[in-house]
Amino acid sequence: MRKVRFVEPAKVYRMIKDELDAAYFDCMARGELIDRGHLRSFEENLARFVGTKYAVGLNSGYDALHMSLRAAGIGPGDEVVVPAHTFVATCSAVVNVGATPVLVDVGKDFNIDVDRVEESLTPRTRAIIAVHLSGYMADMPRILRIAEKHGLKVVEDACQSLGSSIDGKMAGSFGLTGCWSFYPFKILGGYGDGGAVTTDDPEVALFARRMRYNGEDRDTGEYHGHGFTCLLDNLQAAFLDVKLRHLPAWIVRRKAVAEMYRRGLSGIPGLMLPHYDRPGFDHVYQNYTVRSTRGNEFSEYLKANGIEVLTQFRKPYYRHEALGLPDRGFPETEALSREVCSLPMNVELDDEEIEYVIRMVRSFYGLA
Ligand SMILES: *Cc1c(COP(=O)(O)O)cnc(C)c1O
Repeated sequence: MRKVRFVEPAKVYRMIKDELDAAYFDCMARGELIDRGHLRSFEENLARFVGTKYAVGLNSGYDALHMSLRAAGIGPGDEVVVPAHTFVATCSAVVNVGATPVLVDVGKDFNIDVDRVEESLTPRTRAIIAVHLSGYMADMPRILRIAEKHGLKVVEDACQSLGSSIDGKMAGSFGLTGCWSFYPFKILGGYGDGGAVTTDDPEVALFARRMRYNGEDRDTGEYHGHGFTCLLDNLQAAFLDVKLRHLPAWIVRRKAVAEMYRRGLSGIPGLMLPHYDRPGFDHVYQNYTVRSTRGNEFSEYLKANGIEVLTQFRKPYYRHEALGLPDRGFPETEALSREVCSLPMNVELDDEEIEYVIRMVRSFYGLA
């Protein structure tokens, strides 16, 4: 039986070994570890890629969300709108600044159902976190209009959508901040935890720069507040800078893989593919998440045939009791939770592996 891995970090390493090794030896030879040239360089290149004035490297995507909410002045007594279907960190960042998350169901594209946002607002609502899931952006133009009408801040959780865009404007350049994760299996993955915020607001950038390093202004030594320790490592930044150069070509490859899946799997009853024909909305396929009405039977069949798949999330985060979140009933989130299955999607897959996945999906449905 063939084995198709969901991701293969060692294979990516072999693809760009010379460049990664050079980055490593450069850091080691210079002895540059914390807040040094490689970090500055990566921040500049990331900001340029996203199209914002500033990028500030942090320890994780969670830290990016946390810093963004703090920079926006959000705290106890405030409400923040978050989607019911997202990675739990989106919601935890809200809870951990003392604010109250207000969950809103998602639509067929896995992103927040913008039709439901206004009815969730109260006089205490201060912000909306727009999550761009799987490489496809939430409807930012409409979200920004609602935010403007009600005087709300917008934070983009763009952790899954680096390189995605609407009408050519990049994810992470619409809101007060864009939040990025460089967790190893993200579209731009490091070799450990990593994250960043992007912003056009100099105050927000300055706040994040100080707070990531115990509140200290590193030029004067002055502490500007009780801060945190959540700086992106110089060594990780060096690796990420290398991989960022490959990202445009890697996105092209991801789109080609998605196109192979689309051609091989379209028109199967009970199988929904993640292709949406919204003009101007780009999809970079961080994940290729299909929905099968046969849920676990479908995902177990693929696993039994050697294909690694992800079924995030069979149990929505608000149903984890210890999180203490109200379950107001989110029909679309409930339905997709039973049905989601992410097929292998990465730049290290070769065409035969993709064809094998297609063949196995088709054989599950009794098709040649
Ligand atoms: C990965 C991810 C995060 C958190 O990123 P970490 O770097 O793991 O903290 C937040 N939101 C979404 C949507 C993510 O996919």
